[in-house]
Amino acid sequence: MRMSNLYMPTLRETPAEAEIPSHKLLLRAGMIRKLVSGVYSYLPLGYRVIRKIESIVREEMDKAGAQELLMSAIQPRELWEATGRWQDFGPEMFRLKDRHDREFCLGPTHEEYFTSVVKGEVKSYKQLPLNLYQIQTKYRDEKRPRFGLMRSREFIMKDAYSFDIDEEGMRKSYDIMWKAYDKVFTRLKLKYRVVLGDSGTMGGNVSHEFMAMSDVGEGVIAYCQHCDYAATEEKAAVVYKVDDNQEELPVEKVYTPGVTTIEALEDFFNLDASKFAKSLVYNVSGKPVIAVIPGDRELNETKLCNYLGVAEHELEMADEDLIMDITGGNKGFTGPMNLKKEVRVLVDSRITKMKNLVIGANETDYHIKNVNYGRDFTGEVVDDLLLVREGDICPECGEALEMDKGIEVGNIFQLGTKYSESLNATFLDENGKEKPFVMGCYGIGVSRSMMAVVEQYHDEDGIIWPLVVAPYHVIVTIINTKNQEQVELGEKIYDELNSLGIEVLLDDRNESAGVKFKDRDLIGIPIRITVGKKANEAIVEYSLRKDREKREVHVDEILPLIKEEFKKENMVI
Ligand code: ATP
Ligand code: MG
Repeated sequence: MRMSNLYMPTLRETPAEAEIPSHKLLLRAGMIRKLVSGVYSYLPLGYRVIRKIESIVREEMDKAGAQELLMSAIQPRELWEATGRWQDFGPEMFRLKDRHDREFCLGPTHEEYFTSVVKGEVKSYKQLPLNLYQIQTKYRDEKRPRFGLMRSREFIMKDAYSFDIDEEGMRKSYDIMWKAYDKVFTRLKLKYRVVLGDSGTMGGNVSHEFMAMSDVGEGVIAYCQHCDYAATEEKAAVVYKVDDNQEELPVEKVYTPGVTTIEALEDFFNLDASKFAKSLVYNVSGKPVIAVIPGDRELNETKLCNYLGVAEHELEMADEDLIMDITGGNKGFTGPMNLKKEVRVLVDSRITKMKNLVIGANETDYHIKNVNYGRDFTGEVVDDLLLVREGDICPECGEALEMDKGIEVGNIFQLGTKYSESLNATFLDENGKEKPFVMGCYGIGVSRSMMAVVEQYHDEDGIIWPLVVAPYHVIVTIINTKNQEQVELGEKIYDELNSLGIEVLLDDRNESAGVKFKDRDLIGIPIRITVGKKANEAIVEYSLRKDREKREVHVDEILPLIKEEFKKENMVI
């Protein structure tokens, strides 16, 4: 491709909307553009990267025995009603009506649709296992679209669905997909970690997330250095011992004017945060719920939703009016004793072992001290409602957990029969008995993966594409396009490399060398050839974007050098 013809609208300035390096660089390099919040277009260079990621995904999925098809993005409401997810997906689902007032959504995912496609067509166990996939555009009206392609409202996903005769088959299909994902993310050169995930509204109870490690990742991970344990913060079990053998003291009401935060309470009572119980009031689809947890810990809302059996969008913090209505006190003075109304009180199990706690009195400006579970209040004891933090005990081996951040690029789920049962999708087993398919589903964020690669491969001057996903393999820069010898040599190299199937950009633009070098660094083409003053001797400069170390080489040496780079990446020319 001649850069004089290439549509590559680079920007010198960083657009204000971009916060993280990958977003800034992809915009500046003219690879993506925003239409509206969370909706992007892929411009020619960016789209080449997307297609390369797609083809790696496709190759590994095909090798793993999955079959590609393509479904529509539009899906009728009835399909989603059958599984309850028309409701569960909540405001994240883009909904629309046709001219006859029939309701549809733009698919945020396709479990229902795939199940319905197989239903009635796959009739016998002999046709199983089956794994079908597509690479398709998904729509989710995210609460906080941000970071460009990282959390967008329209994005490209590879989604696969496996159908097996039993749990054992499903686990096999799951393992096969896990291995295929390992291959995909290894080929994409991502540094990643596989962690236990929460299954959320997807269903089933085993899931793993593939996290590309990055400080800008929205996924928080707890992991153990001493064993294999690693889990998302939503999923990670919080384990710690409470050994409080204090004698239970008589309760005492204390005047605490304006003391509403744990920090202020610590000062006021001269006690550590762990001696308080936090009572958080939620409004769960119109019904109040109070969660009581240790004062030095944070509540894990995913665990709360799972316990209550509700979707995350159904949970919101209660407002002042609701708090006053059920407790009789202002926010900051809530506790599990003397509630004005009948309310569900959930108590984290640790609270039941702590002695002489300080709680809100449900009366403005008062707290109660020396409160003990069982004697002074009760509730539904929930094993674990807490958010993990660094230093918590590893649930597998007992060592201290560490924390890290990642970008979720893939997610695999053992679904079981949630979808097949609710959609009545069955097959006949060996004994002629009707059974629901046992399913798994497997997603890869294609557009998000592009962002993750840039996040891991860039410097202050631009992107450093790994050869496998680079929009072009080689860039040939002609320093002075008015110099005939330089132009001829540049064209010759360009033609020769092109004829070998190497993807080459020829910078034949009538721009200064400075502009060309800046753009070349920005767009991150891995192999660079600079044709300059020594063109008459057939000598050019050769360098790689990743280290930018220049060396003068004769044109005959170019091809072996390029071949070497391809070989390192297991790529053939
Ligand atoms: P997240 O927790 O980041 O919202 P998710 O768990 O809801 O993602 P899945 O339903 O597991 O996402 O979707 C499969 C994959 O699709 C994810 O692993 C991710 O790579 C990608 N993905 C999901 N939501 C988005 C989005 N809004 N923008 C870009 N990619 C996304
Ligand atoms: Mg996920």
